[in-house]
Amino acid sequence: MKKFILAPYVRVGFLEGTLHFGFGSLRQLIVEREMQDCVLDAAVFLKQSRNMEEIACFLEGAGHAKGTIQGALDVLLRNFLIPEGSYDREERHSRNFLFYALSGAEVEKIQRIISSKKVAIVGCGGIGNVVGVMLATAGVGEFILVDNDHIELSNLGRQIMFKEADCGRYKTTALAEGLKERSSLAKVTEIKEFISKDNVHELQNVDFIVLSGDQENIVDVVNTFSIKHGIPFMNIGYIEDIAVWGPLVVPGKSGCCCCKEHLVSFNDLTQDQIDKCKEINRRYQAPSTGPINMIASSFAALDIIKFLGNFGQVQSLNTRIGIWSHDLHIEKQDYSLNPSCEVCGSLQKVK
Ligand SMILES: [Zn+2]
Repeated sequence: MKKFILAPYVRVGFLEGTLHFGFGSLRQLIVEREMQDCVLDAAVFLKQSRNMEEIACFLEGAGHAKGTIQGALDVLLRNFLIPEGSYDREERHSRNFLFYALSGAEVEKIQRIISSKKVAIVGCGGIGNVVGVMLATAGVGEFILVDNDHIELSNLGRQIMFKEADCGRYKTTALAEGLKERSSLAKVTEIKEFISKDNVHELQNVDFIVLSGDQENIVDVVNTFSIKHGIPFMNIGYIEDIAVWGPLVVPGKSGCCCCKEHLVSFNDLTQDQIDKCKEINRRYQAPSTGPINMIASSFAALDIIKFLGNFGQVQSLNTRIGIWSHDLHIEKQDYSLNPSCEVCGSLQKVK
């Protein structure tokens, strides 16, 4: 019979007579004294691996009522137990395993899947730096780094994988080195080009595309390519002081970046208005800072790891999320399937 042990992330405490069993979003509040005693007895007994029969037998022997025992087992089975031998703190990904276990997932299977993935990072600036290192240290097996930019001194405030001595080098080269230093098993190749519709086919054999480029139309180019070839992708960035990620696009299953109309367009404007808008926008330079960049990158990386490992809830599926940093409110824009979408609509109809 399968044996379980109390997950090492379980902490307990009392607040005003209520037992808080486990913390974080899993937390269970137990008010009734009998149930509190039963759950605590079970948790102490489960410091060693036991099967369910042994636990029930022990609790019965300790004088707990059958109904209470069943209630206590129900609490424990809400992802507070992990299979015997599944946690080894010497293992490289052991802390990630505990995080995956919070969702009740089979951790070794998740790691195997993540390690088998090949991810393209299009744009190796601030976002590409953080998402790249998060995925590499989570064990993603293979990367294609795509960018034609060289590192400048003004990049260092947010492009944390780069050092002063890297200025003048290709971003892809310095990032490749950084990823290999942190995850030597990862295979990393570089494409020293900017992606356009002429070379986007070079991304054909990947499992996921991370997009954080600022060239004109890059989102449309990658979105169309992704839908056509069935490759999931996510656009990540920031709009001035808003950290933005998503939607995570899964061709045929979720909406795409074109399922919703873009916020601004030149439709119905005079030529004079269009010219003036373009003239102003041409001198745009993004106001970039490390923290906003990292908020977007970190939440995006969390969703990508969940998606690649197939566990937990991906928040940005069908949703573009923005954290407004000045007052910390969260805006969510709906990017659900739109059957009239010019890019993915026909795919939905086939389905
Ligand atoms: Zn669409």
